Amino acid sequence: MSGVPAQPLQAYRGSLLSFFGDPGDGHCESDVKFIDDGLLVVENGLIKAADEAQTLLPTLPRGTPVVDYRGRLLMPGFIETHIHYPQTDMIAAYAAQLLDWLEDHAFPAEGRFSDAVHAEETAEFFLDELARNGTTTALVFGTVHACSVDALLGQAEKRNLRMIAGKVLMDRNCPESLRDTAESGTRESAALIEKWDGRARLHYAITPRFAVTSSDAQLALAGQLAARHPGVFIHSHLAENLNEVKWVHDLFPRARSYLDVYESFGLLRERAVYAHCLHIDDEDRMHMARTGASAAVCATSNLFLGSGLFDFAAARRAGMRTGLGTDVGGGTSFSMLRTIAETYKVAQLRGHRLTAWRAFYLATLGGARALGLADRIGSFAPGREADFVVLRMDSTPLIARRMKSAPTPAEKLFVLMTLGDDREIGATYIMGERVWGTL
Ligand SMILES: [Zn+2]
Repeated sequence: MSGVPAQPLQAYRGSLLSFFGDPGDGHCESDVKFIDDGLLVVENGLIKAADEAQTLLPTLPRGTPVVDYRGRLLMPGFIETHIHYPQTDMIAAYAAQLLDWLEDHAFPAEGRFSDAVHAEETAEFFLDELARNGTTTALVFGTVHACSVDALLGQAEKRNLRMIAGKVLMDRNCPESLRDTAESGTRESAALIEKWDGRARLHYAITPRFAVTSSDAQLALAGQLAARHPGVFIHSHLAENLNEVKWVHDLFPRARSYLDVYESFGLLRERAVYAHCLHIDDEDRMHMARTGASAAVCATSNLFLGSGLFDFAAARRAGMRTGLGTDVGGGTSFSMLRTIAETYKVAQLRGHRLTAWRAFYLATLGGARALGLADRIGSFAPGREADFVVLRMDSTPLIARRMKSAPTPAEKLFVLMTLGDDREIGATYIMGERVWGTL
């Protein structure tokens, strides 16, 4: 996977899709930009322009290279708002529900990350897999070991990725070998913030696993660390499984709700991202919306572990920010297209239809907004970082055939999100450099 050095000015011709806002349930012209024969112009790794090819081609200086992707679809790279890289090797593990799955599969796999060599090797495979699936930014769980973050962010820096990761904080209710303490977890997190946050395109996330595995003292120190570093992310899980919710109520009897535990320790604010948010009430949703915290919707994981169905209608009513997560290894695919397909089905089971426009919005600009990074990534607005993907539109015989009877852009997108997978990704670009591709 070698990067090809980009020219200072480079253009790409093909269909273009980008969003300015949340298209909601319909197709609002002001929120969606779809151009059938478009041109994406990149200068020094940033988006310079995205418009009709016939408008932009005459404006290019003579000799500007134009890559011909006509018949393909270019869009901003997918943005993953919740994934565990140390669980790469135990994806597709047979278990009952969340708490058994953690005990039997996740914790043993994470134990191996005390070995920095194993962490490095897994990080490389993981980042290759993201690129192969067109995912250009991710919010990533490490393990309790600081070296797991050094491995992932070190590799991400080499690849010039906008990537966010953190060391897990976990001082109780887990195997002894995976425990830190309130003090050591905070000390190591502070050192990792110092080392990585703001370096190259990298960010740090303070990462308590969930309320069950952190003591009051650990959550309090995590909140104090977050207050000292308002630009740093907070990343955790919330209300994934009913047995987990009950356990949290037993551990924190004075809290009004599971969310209230995090809020009382200062862990609810912008750039706080909570995976799942399934078993919460409207008051919780209002608190999340008011504080600017975000939900990472993880459909394949929620179905696989039998956890529940995310309530899109309630989240929208409350004005909660939402992005999409694969939640590998509880989730069953690295592919954002497979994840969108299952998200659509979850919405259907909740009596809510997810349009193709909104689905692709959530996978791009919606994810960037959920992460507070929409001024950098997630769209083709001028000045944004040129992380983008090229979708083939014909990756299987069935998709190629079905596209012929899908005349409108919305129909084509719906076919892609229903039938597409990693084979759809024709090329992935990071800051204007092609890092992976089959086209
Ligand atoms: Zn998770």
